[in-house]
Amino acid sequence: MSTLTATPELNDLAEKVWSSQRLTFEDGVRLFRTRDIHTLGELANQVRLQRHGRQTFYNINRHINYTNYCVLRCKFCSFYRPYNNEPRASARAEISGIEPILPVIPSRGLKPAAPSDSYELSVDEIVRLAEQAASDGATEVHIVGGLHPKLPFDYYLDLCRGIQSVCPKLHIKAFTAIEIIHFTRVSRPRRTIRQVLEELRAAGLGSLPGGGAEIFDDRVHDEAYKNKVGEEGWFDVHRAAHELGMYSNATMLYGHLETIEERVQHLVKLRDFQDESLAGRAAHFNCFVPLSFIPDGSELRHLPGPDGLDDLKTLAVSRLMLDNFPHIKSFWIMHSPKLAQVALDWGVDDLDGTVVWYDITKREGAGTRHQQLTVAQLQRLVVEAGYQPIERDSLYQHVPRTSMMK
Ligand code: SF4
Repeated sequence: MSTLTATPELNDLAEKVWSSQRLTFEDGVRLFRTRDIHTLGELANQVRLQRHGRQTFYNINRHINYTNYCVLRCKFCSFYRPYNNEPRASARAEISGIEPILPVIPSRGLKPAAPSDSYELSVDEIVRLAEQAASDGATEVHIVGGLHPKLPFDYYLDLCRGIQSVCPKLHIKAFTAIEIIHFTRVSRPRRTIRQVLEELRAAGLGSLPGGGAEIFDDRVHDEAYKNKVGEEGWFDVHRAAHELGMYSNATMLYGHLETIEERVQHLVKLRDFQDESLAGRAAHFNCFVPLSFIPDGSELRHLPGPDGLDDLKTLAVSRLMLDNFPHIKSFWIMHSPKLAQVALDWGVDDLDGTVVWYDITKREGAGTRHQQLTVAQLQRLVVEAGYQPIERDSLYQHVPRTSMMK
């Protein structure tokens, strides 16, 4: 019998974890509901230590959100702006390094338009941001945006080609599954998912982020993001990517309308899919990123959102359930740097990166888009927690540096 568990409650699950037996759906629900949180954290930590020792991964990256116009209105989202001839350049000046190119144009009317924070970036602006990131030492740009009703498929191809032509070594991780499906609809002639991915890859796309998964459940889908592509479409995109040899990540947006059972079911579906990719496809998921719902500014702002303990439990249960995922990430933008640091003892081995700018969520609602940790700050978080910081590239290869990054 284990001496590690604080109470006998989780002894049987501890035995399963130590003997590398797969946990069931029921086991996952029990782990979420346990009061023995110390054992839960320690079990997740043991798995993390077995896989990665004390190594903790981060990268030097730059997130770019090319537009916040979106044809959908997901209830949990505070990022989207409807497309209705509002001034389009007003937010550009707030994007680092971007001078406003267009003046703020009053909407066709007679009265001046209200100030708007809707925006879209031109391909040139995005390429300039990527160039700046590369000169600051970034190895990756992470590019996602809303579902813009007017931008043609060529815009996304040009964006990848433009970055690749000036920064050939910069890895382009871009476009969630929902954006890829949007491209199949706006392309002329219409492309299949596979064709979209092949053309983007030929233009320079390196891998896919994991966003847009939300919760794989019809009830939650219908209540919170009814018009968005559901799990079938999300998996179709990642299946096609893995078949083409393109790696991707997976996410779960938790802490809104879903139950604990629906969270665990989401994890089981991802684990089953990863089994298939590992067995028969040319690529697989590299990393799982649980995204903590931030209610501020969304239609679901009356909900409290997850607290710190829920964040830690979700990360730990994810580590234990997803036994075929190499990495579990705490995205510090959503968890906060302080909680992400604690999470290193709860199954997490990756902290994302320097990020720099992030439009999609801002803590405290009206917080700034400039959300950056320097390399020194990331390394300090890791070292103070007793771990070893390792700079990685987008595919988790070690990045050797001859000089210290700040
Ligand atoms: S979550 Fe994505 S698809 Fe949904 S409204 Fe926001 S930007 Fe649009």
